[in-house]
Amino acid sequence: MEVFLLWLGLAIIVGVAANSRGRNAFGWFVLAVVISPLLGGLLLLAMPRGGLDVKVCPECAEKVKVFARKCRYCGHEFAIANPPPLPPPPLFTHRDYDPPVR
Ligand SMILES: [Zn+2]
Repeated sequence: MEVFLLWLGLAIIVGVAANSRGRNAFGWFVLAVVISPLLGGLLLLAMPRGGLDVKVCPECAEKVKVFARKCRYCGHEFAIANPPPLPPPPLFTHRDYDPPVR
């Protein structure tokens, strides 16, 4: 019984550690229970911190989730939930372009 409680306790620690690294706490808790807290913890440590699912807020330069519509630090609203690699701005807009006169 003590082993089971220890197992659960360690799995909870893995979940909390996952949450502090910007990952799904419950998912990691379940993973740690299933594959063992030790393996779960090692796997979590092997993962890059924060992962690739963050973008930098243009207003406050804080890291927020890619799919966030609103910055949780400053409240900046993102236009669309687009991934971070934005296309470069066009060299000219259609307003600058004068169509050829026929
Ligand atoms: Zn912000």
